[in-house]
Amino acid sequence: MKVVRASERTTRNAPASNFSGTVFSDEVVTGVAPSKLRASVVSFTPGARTFWHTHPVGQTLYCLSGVGRVQKEGEKVQALHPGDTVLIPPGVKHWHGAAPDRLFSHLAMSENGPNGEGTNWLEAVSEEDYRAAP
Ligand code: MN
Repeated sequence: MKVVRASERTTRNAPASNFSGTVFSDEVVTGVAPSKLRASVVSFTPGARTFWHTHPVGQTLYCLSGVGRVQKEGEKVQALHPGDTVLIPPGVKHWHGAAPDRLFSHLAMSENGPNGEGTNWLEAVSEEDYRAAP
């Protein structure tokens, strides 16, 4: 086994190609085959969120701090609080992020698909969709 010290890794900026606003990512694990596990702590500043996207094997979000938002396409926006867990099935179009006026962080867990495929990124979430009341 191995203990990876926090001091050995640096916080990364999430790319503007897939996220709106300022978002930081701290890697927890990128599994080595046969593991397909991927986990990271993602921290969103107020108003920041992902683009719309899908995951080949789904995704689990465990909410750590602050107040967040999540939406499945065609359904209402939902508020998220620490201790909440979001189970996102494979192929379901959705986004997640911070509330407009609050910081938010979650542990994001997913697996790559059978052929190694990762997240399928789509278009940005519009202000109208983002600002809808949960
Ligand atoms: Mn997701």
